[in-house]
Amino acid sequence: MMWIFLGAPGAGKGTQAERLQQDFGFVQISTGELLREAMRAGTELGKTVQGYVTRGDLVPDEVVASVLQERLVRGDTGTGVILDGFPRTVRQAEILEEMLAEHCWQLCGVLYLEASEEVVQQRLGGRRNCPQCGANYHVVTMPPKVEGRCDRCGAQLVVRPDDTPEAIRKRLEVYREQTEPLVAFYDQRGMLERIDASGEVDEVYRAVKEAVSRRWQRCLEKG
Ligand code: AMP
Repeated sequence: MMWIFLGAPGAGKGTQAERLQQDFGFVQISTGELLREAMRAGTELGKTVQGYVTRGDLVPDEVVASVLQERLVRGDTGTGVILDGFPRTVRQAEILEEMLAEHCWQLCGVLYLEASEEVVQQRLGGRRNCPQCGANYHVVTMPPKVEGRCDRCGAQLVVRPDDTPEAIRKRLEVYREQTEPLVAFYDQRGMLERIDASGEVDEVYRAVKEAVSRRWQRCLEKG
């Protein structure tokens, strides 16, 4: 069973997906995190994607789709998979449909986190990331227990290279042009759940959980 989180950078996809993972036993797969891991490890893939990621551009569809495919077939998918950051183009959504059909995976719902540009700018501006385990924080709304240190693994937190003002501008532009058309794509397929993501993390999570519980039931009934 598969879930998709759709929304602008900074809408809270990663944060909400982490919560769902804890409560429902789903496994969160973030293509951005898989790419950052490859960049940290200095693999061929890491070198190929470094420029795109740092500039705030999208990595080519076929490259990121094969990274996802590799991760999915490795197994370890719990009670379901949450895709955090994939698909980001209509082409990627089509590739995903092919993968679903090929492996008999079922898409249960697309959780669309809606937030204004002002809200996402503010969230991205204060974001801190753990370079070791990928956990996300915010200096004001979600600070770590010890300043500058990851709660999970103790590593020193950093500002992501694509959280600079210039890269943020680029990512929001790319989102509007290439990713937003997916709202209509999934709405037409009856898959879209619109969630107001402008509030506090707990408040947004209540709406996410409610949508997931409802859709999950439907998904189980369909088998
Ligand atoms: P994220 O952590 O989801 O914000 O992703 C960080 C960056 O990784 C993006 O700005 C892109 O450069 C790249 N990336 C992640 N997922 C995708 C995707 N599905 N398609 C293309 N590029 C991606």
